[in-house]
Amino acid sequence: AKQRGKAGYVRYVDGMGEPVLAHMQLGGELRRALDNDEFRVVYQPIVRLDCNRVIGVEALVRWHHPTRGLVSPADFIPAAERTGLIVPLGRFVLRETCRQAAAWLAELGPDALREAGLNVSARQLHDPDFVSDVAAALADSGLPCERLVLEVTESAVLRGQQVSRALYELDRMGIRLALDDFGTGESSLSLLRAFPASIVKLDKSFVDGIEIDDGQPAAADARQAVARAVSQLARALGLDTVAEGIESPEQVAALLELGYTVGQGFYLAEPMTADSVSRLLALQARV
Ligand code: C2E
Ligand code: CA
Ligand code: CA
Ligand code: CA
Repeated sequence: AKQRGKAGYVRYVDGMGEPVLAHMQLGGELRRALDNDEFRVVYQPIVRLDCNRVIGVEALVRWHHPTRGLVSPADFIPAAERTGLIVPLGRFVLRETCRQAAAWLAELGPDALREAGLNVSARQLHDPDFVSDVAAALADSGLPCERLVLEVTESAVLRGQQVSRALYELDRMGIRLALDDFGTGESSLSLLRAFPASIVKLDKSFVDGIEIDDGQPAAADARQAVARAVSQLARALGLDTVAEGIESPEQVAALLELGYTVGQGFYLAEPMTADSVSRLLALQARV
């Protein structure tokens, strides 16, 4: 069920969702898949909206199932979280991403890429070994800590003492934390005060339709108003922003007008293999 497009893009085909996998012994399947080396990491470029320069990547895990093809993370991350397998799976993504990012920097120089991000589940933040796993991944790969971004969601952050202690410790180590899917939670704004974030990622739901001009002044358009408020707040607090899920040039134009300079989305670049990222970065380093 895998499609391979131009430049090594890897996309899974929809329609094989939760109902099919719900009938599998998903926990056991995931364990076996991890032992069998069936997980891969792809990287989606994070791009400057004014000049299209790639400044970072987000690591996204993929499951190459021997018979079912490419399985979407939406179909197995929840089960991995329920069974606790997200801890070893997340450790694999962490180590792989650090290793790969260090390799890009070694090959292409320190200006090739500012940072590499990856997603961290609440379950991982609860794991008492998480902070030392991160420290070990950085030490083993040689990736400087300020090059690593850990993306966490609001619901993961609001999980009490143990989690906030881990987040503050990571922040103290110089690792940057990004609030993922920003704006979708219930207390996004107060969270910015209570949490050592460096980056906010504006959720795709605010980017969808942001280019639509309904003839109203921008302030009357709720989506645009939220997007603008988030970019202004981020600037006031000294945080970087990334607008997620950009699918058209019209959205790029609208986001630039609303104060966003960095974005991510299929229109800019799809998730791709590490080799494809290498080619993209090498090309960029030459111009
Ligand atoms: P996310 O962290 O919000 O990641 C962004 C998702 O949006 C990715 O889906 C990406 O392929 C997709 N995307 C990017 N640009 C566009 C666009 O323009 N349009 C649309 N429609 N989608 C776009 P993906 O790779 O399927 O991952 C889904 C979710 O699974 C992620 O959402 C994240 O929550 C989770 N996930 C993925 N990899 C990992 C991982 O290694 N660890 C953990 N804990 N979660 C992961
Ligand atoms: Ca993310
Ligand atoms: Ca997101
Ligand atoms: Ca409008």
